[in-house]
Amino acid sequence: MKRISHWIDGKLVEGTSGRSGVIWQPATGVQQASVDFASVEEVGHAIAVAKAAFPAWRATNLSRRAEVMFRMRELVDANRKEIAALLSAEHGKVLGDALGEVARGLENIEYACGIPNLMKGGFSEQASGGVDVYSIRQPLGVVAGITPFNFPAMVPMWMFANALACGNTFVLKPSEKDPSASMFIAELLKAAGLPDGCFNVVNGDKVAVDTILNHPDIQAISFVGSTPIAKYIYETGTRNGKRVQALGGAKNHMLVLPDADLDMAADAAVSAAYGSAGERCMAISVVLAMDSVADAFIAKVQDRIPGILVGPASEGGNEMGPLITGEHRDKVAGYIAGAEADGAMLVVDGRVGAPADGFFLMPSLIDHARPGMKCYDDEIFGPVLLVTRIKSYDEGLQLINDNQYGNGTAIFTRDGGVARQFQFDVQVGMVGINVPIPVPVSYYSFGGWKASLFGDQHMYGPDGINFFTRSKVVTSRWPDPRTSSVDLGFPQNR
Ligand code: NAD
Repeated sequence: MKRISHWIDGKLVEGTSGRSGVIWQPATGVQQASVDFASVEEVGHAIAVAKAAFPAWRATNLSRRAEVMFRMRELVDANRKEIAALLSAEHGKVLGDALGEVARGLENIEYACGIPNLMKGGFSEQASGGVDVYSIRQPLGVVAGITPFNFPAMVPMWMFANALACGNTFVLKPSEKDPSASMFIAELLKAAGLPDGCFNVVNGDKVAVDTILNHPDIQAISFVGSTPIAKYIYETGTRNGKRVQALGGAKNHMLVLPDADLDMAADAAVSAAYGSAGERCMAISVVLAMDSVADAFIAKVQDRIPGILVGPASEGGNEMGPLITGEHRDKVAGYIAGAEADGAMLVVDGRVGAPADGFFLMPSLIDHARPGMKCYDDEIFGPVLLVTRIKSYDEGLQLINDNQYGNGTAIFTRDGGVARQFQFDVQVGMVGINVPIPVPVSYYSFGGWKASLFGDQHMYGPDGINFFTRSKVVTSRWPDPRTSSVDLGFPQNR
């Protein structure tokens, strides 16, 4: 049985805690590997190694740090298929989806290649007589990433690319459900010329996370995962004086107005709800359909569902894979049962007809979902699309704004004025206009509002550079000795 350990100081390190977790093959339901769970001491060792590597990496010039990122860009590009295969094996997502994940992650490494430009400060000559003022950005030290199961390659890339390029050293705690992509990435970073100790991977569970949260040498934590854990990470990390960005869960609504192209909206809803088996934080999970078009829209979604090819990634052509674990599959199935019990209407029941092996569910479609039903109020994180019928644009907007989450949303309409008003009014961090999954490109930043993000900096892009650096402002004077005199007044320039 394959055993996954840790990556510390540029090499594989076997775990010694005696604790481990199971890595399933979601497509078959069979255990394929075990992963070592790090002890407090093992995480402490990784942090000490990263701390020791920091001074030299921080002092490495910007061109050289950019060069490592350029090489990493080439290596990830050359190994797209290998990374995607790891994602399919452990997460279960189909190959096309896995390749898409790698491509979106790679964008962040490309962005970090521009670090000499991104870290430029400002300069004001002659802020006062003979006085210049300038700002510089400096790395924080040892920073940590804690990542979820659903994007095992992309989310680490959101974090480490900018963090390392800024001159920090990094400790990654990937999801214990699918850590192999992170281990492979560590090898690629070494091959790209990153000095040993700058990037470390500790595998594990709450013990590893709590060690990171409480360790005095961790300066900042970048977290992506579910809302309860995000809140815990934010509260504990900030209480311990750390900088924290903690991205949480979602319930993304898509508003379909009567003037929308209904075929386009149905294609978008099906793709965004069932892609990656709904295990995306930007998946569409509720469609708000105006009464006048709801029946027609639902019929179009219903027509498309039988065409979705569900099965293992190993069989080419499949479009939707299994869920991550049997436990999660059963939880999602529980929401489908609960929806009916709460009075919603099950239009397509995804508990029927799934492949016998593995953790599969078929796509589900539920009509007449309302706030107050568990299927509506909770993040399901599975291939379940709800439809909520609304009487007006205002009612739809209100439902979105009342929702506890504010990660992503989309509006489908041909009316530019309404779309612009929606963008103005909606309390959500990422908005799509006729775009169902509006994940920002890497030179913008990714982040939700409300219970989808704890902290004030979004992930990657310009916010990522801000998050992984702190600024210093220098006021400098090179006086002419002939003009020097004692002056006890407060310095001023007027
Ligand atoms: P999760 O919260 O269960 O786990 C995330 C990380 O936290 C993992 O590394 C895990 O080991 C650790 N963790 C879990 N329980 C912990 C505990 N009690 N104490 C300390 N650490 C703990 O999330 P998941 O199931 O891996 O991922 C799915 C969730 O992530 C969904 O809610 C999804 O919406 C969210 N997500 C959000 C975004 C975003 O950008 N907002 C992106 C991807 C996923």
